[in-house]
Amino acid sequence: MSFLAKNYKRKNISFKYGKGSYLYSTNGKKYLDFVQGIAVNSLGHAHPKLVKAINRQSKKLWHVSNAFTIPEGEELAKKIAKKTFADYIMFQNSGAEATEASIKVARRYFYSIGKPKKNRILCIKNGSFHGRTIAAIFASGSKKMTEGFGPKVPGFDHINFRDSKPRFPNLRKKIKKNTAAIMVETILGEGGIKPLPDKCLKYLRKICNEKKILLILDEVQCGIGRSGDFFAFEQSKVKPDIVPIAKGIGGGFPIGAVLMNKKVASGMTPGTHGSTFGGNPMSMVIAGTVMDIIHKKSFLKNVKKNSSYFHGKLNDLKNEFPEIIKEIRGRGLLIGIQLYKEQSKFIKKLMDNQLLTIRASENVVRILPPLNVKKIEIDQALKIIKKVCSELK
Ligand SMILES: *Cc1c(COP(=O)(O)O)cnc(C)c1O
Repeated sequence: MSFLAKNYKRKNISFKYGKGSYLYSTNGKKYLDFVQGIAVNSLGHAHPKLVKAINRQSKKLWHVSNAFTIPEGEELAKKIAKKTFADYIMFQNSGAEATEASIKVARRYFYSIGKPKKNRILCIKNGSFHGRTIAAIFASGSKKMTEGFGPKVPGFDHINFRDSKPRFPNLRKKIKKNTAAIMVETILGEGGIKPLPDKCLKYLRKICNEKKILLILDEVQCGIGRSGDFFAFEQSKVKPDIVPIAKGIGGGFPIGAVLMNKKVASGMTPGTHGSTFGGNPMSMVIAGTVMDIIHKKSFLKNVKKNSSYFHGKLNDLKNEFPEIIKEIRGRGLLIGIQLYKEQSKFIKKLMDNQLLTIRASENVVRILPPLNVKKIEIDQALKIIKKVCSELK
């Protein structure tokens, strides 16, 4: 019997080890892993450079308190600042911590400029996801996540996102005198792999400027090269004020962070936020190695090249099996196959054929290969997807 709490419905499969795009199960099978810990293992399993970095750092220093200066953290923050919009970075350990800390940064900014009542956060009502901690669940506000966890955390307002235009009907009306920020995922991940169109992001930025409120773009899932750009918002040229990141930045090691511009950072004075584990030397060195690899020349170019090949071929399959595949969604290597047929059966069949994928809302099969996936591995996955489509036809 299992002594683990039953908050997960787990599949009856376990793995001994992983290498690159593959996982090797305890019952001796080899799986093509296109889940990668849900966009976490951005460089696949056991990347030699990460193994080396971990080994080297594990002999030096794992953890010291943030009461002291941590050079490894200084270095990573500098690396991130040089490559992104961010002026300042605050390290955490997970996505939910990063989104909650982003809310703290936004509120504290308005407090620091003498507007303490300006503290409400406007989020997307249906299909948004910002983590499972108590404020984060009420930020997305879905019944499924919040049921039984009341009292409701106050301070969040909600707006619908539509796939058709206008995408945010009545947005201006939803922004009240006390609204501090709009917080949205650049690409809705759990909600069904739905990118906010560039025009939509630009519109959000415009309204935020007009109303003098902050734009928080949650890139926990879609960031760190996943979309083909380092951040998914980059192609829109929109500049957010605050960006929580996590998942892919650690390459499999738990780390989160809040990226912010100078303006909002001014509220975060000593003592306003902290994290015992956040910014530990071990995670800093590992994430620094991930950063170096992703920023190597041609790395993101390859993500774009491979992903556009993948999307193209998946759309071919959609045309071949129009009664099974409704839509191919997403950007870069954050891909959703929206099905007409039941998603769990499809995922199970893919797994029986040694391809691992994971669900998302709206009957979507989510595909998250490592960013350094090889074309031959994409072809292997396509072959399995095609086979399953034929079987279900
Ligand atoms: C996964 C995710 C989170 C939460 O991250 P955890 O590390 O599970 O706390 C927050 N926002 C988005 C967009 C995510 O995909």
